[in-house]
Amino acid sequence: AAKQSGEPYRRWAADLDARSTEEARLGAQIRHALGMNQFQVVYQPIVAMPEQRVVAVEALVRWHHPRLGTVSPAHFIPVAERNGLIVELGAWILRTACEQLVRWIGELGPAAPDRVSVNVSARQLARPGFAGTVADVLAATGLPAWRLTVEVTETAVFDGGPAVTALHELRALGVRIALDDFGTGHSSLGLLQAVPVDILKIDKSFVDRITEAGRHAVIAEAMMQVSNGLGLDAVAEGVETAEQAEALTRIGYRLLQGYHFGRPEAEPGFTRRPESRGLV
Ligand code: C2E
Ligand code: CA
Ligand code: CA
Ligand code: CA
Repeated sequence: AAKQSGEPYRRWAADLDARSTEEARLGAQIRHALGMNQFQVVYQPIVAMPEQRVVAVEALVRWHHPRLGTVSPAHFIPVAERNGLIVELGAWILRTACEQLVRWIGELGPAAPDRVSVNVSARQLARPGFAGTVADVLAATGLPAWRLTVEVTETAVFDGGPAVTALHELRALGVRIALDDFGTGHSSLGLLQAVPVDILKIDKSFVDRITEAGRHAVIAEAMMQVSNGLGLDAVAEGVETAEQAEALTRIGYRLLQGYHFGRPEAEPGFTRRPESRGLV
């Protein structure tokens, strides 16, 4: 090996060591948290314009740590992916989300969202038998397959292989597939030839600058055309202002998601009776 003895190397090695200790500790805490029911699933509305009807919700996991407070999934999901706990955690999230939609349909009838969207990580998807797990959860909860959407990122399916096989199996069950963070990967358009997809979720980074009439707006419009041409649905995510919603609607986006319409919550607005929403 190359000579690695200088101060920068020592600092790098110490850093790496600290990081892997931190990683191991966080990993152990995730396992503990699963047993202690510290995880919660919250739901963010996806609305259809112009009537702003909540047609779907995206399930997002939260970790309420007794000491650390609420830990971001952006922080612990990658750790759970690397140590494999995502399989157990992900199965719990999937079952919880399906049960919740069945409950809302029972309680709210037609005011319930039609669908629930669940994020599935690369490792979950590539594991043999994933589609079978999904079929079991649907059977156990009684949720019809068409009401479930699985959100996968471009990187999760980029390698092809088992992940793409799983998508075909999910499709055969009647589950819908959404390509998450669309436009941020290395071969967004190429992937559409190789992977079965029903929905494109346009990444927030395009939405953020949609009102600037620069290249972001042009790309967002081109993605809309691709989506239309292929007969897919398109969801724009991270919509924070009325101006963004208006700009997106103008270029053809009908399905919008973001803080402007509702934050992820355990009991989103549509679960509350009209009088308590101040509408009566
Ligand atoms: P994502 O799948 O792209 O989810 C969207 C993220 O954007 C969520 O963050 C959501 O709370 C946030 N968001 C939604 N609307 C707005 C907005 O208008 N403005 C801003 N600034 N943010 C908005 P969250 O819940 O912190 O999740 C972060 C990421 O962690 C997710 O990105 C997803 O990759 C991952 N994740 C979350 N829940 C799960 C899960 O249950 N399973 C898996 N595998 N990954 C998950
Ligand atoms: Ca997502
Ligand atoms: Ca996303
Ligand atoms: Ca994301």
